[in-house]
Amino acid sequence: MNLLLLDASELNIHHEACLTDRRHQHLKNIHKPAVGDQFKAGILNGQVGTAVILEHTSDLTRVQLTLEAPPPAALPVTLILALPRPRMLARSLEHLSTLGVKDIHLLHTARVEKSYWQSPELQAGKIHQHLLLGLEQARDTLLPQVSLHQRFKPFVEDHLPELSAASRKLVAHPGNYPECPRGLQEKITLAIGPEGGFVDYEIDKLVAGGFQPVQLGERILRVETAVTALLARLF
Ligand code: SAH
Repeated sequence: MNLLLLDASELNIHHEACLTDRRHQHLKNIHKPAVGDQFKAGILNGQVGTAVILEHTSDLTRVQLTLEAPPPAALPVTLILALPRPRMLARSLEHLSTLGVKDIHLLHTARVEKSYWQSPELQAGKIHQHLLLGLEQARDTLLPQVSLHQRFKPFVEDHLPELSAASRKLVAHPGNYPECPRGLQEKITLAIGPEGGFVDYEIDKLVAGGFQPVQLGERILRVETAVTALLARLF
């Protein structure tokens, strides 16, 4: 936890908050703070600054916040991700949140197991927790938006054109394709496949929608690794 992240509703009019949850436990177990100690802090979807410890007991930590700066810049990317299996989803969401992706679309594809859509990891509260962990890691405050799309064709035909308008559209797909570009400044819509990859029909539909297949070399990466490798390379 590199940032103590609070909700604006937790602060009183003096910008003080009383923590008793995971954040208190983390401070207690890892940092063992003394009154007057300072930590980087931020308000969810707001500014970052400093928290001063006012009180720290075994049951609670009281802090006062001073906010002075905007959070780090977001990546100019819309990410379309074939729904990974639950454990990989949890890690991928955390990585995406840490890397600064703010617009995440989880999509059903032919090689996504239908049962993944029933996973508890897809509950809003669980997704929120993974995103928060990612933000705390990156010292960011802007919560990514995650939307779920359980039907490939309607998503690609009806939703994706608007979603990806005015952006460069790339789909990561191993094979005899151009290398994934590097160091881009422009807005990107990036599609990443499931563990079994996209099927030909899906690549054809994406290509018809203006997506360029790009590859990262002959090594096939796990989805969570591919996500990080692609974003690091693109930006
Ligand atoms: N079994 C699949 C690979 C799936 S890897 C196949 O052989 O095609 C999961 C996803 O990560 C892929 O759909 C792709 O979007 C991305 N990915 C992994 N390794 C990649 C590589 N070397 N080049 C491009 N994309 C890759």
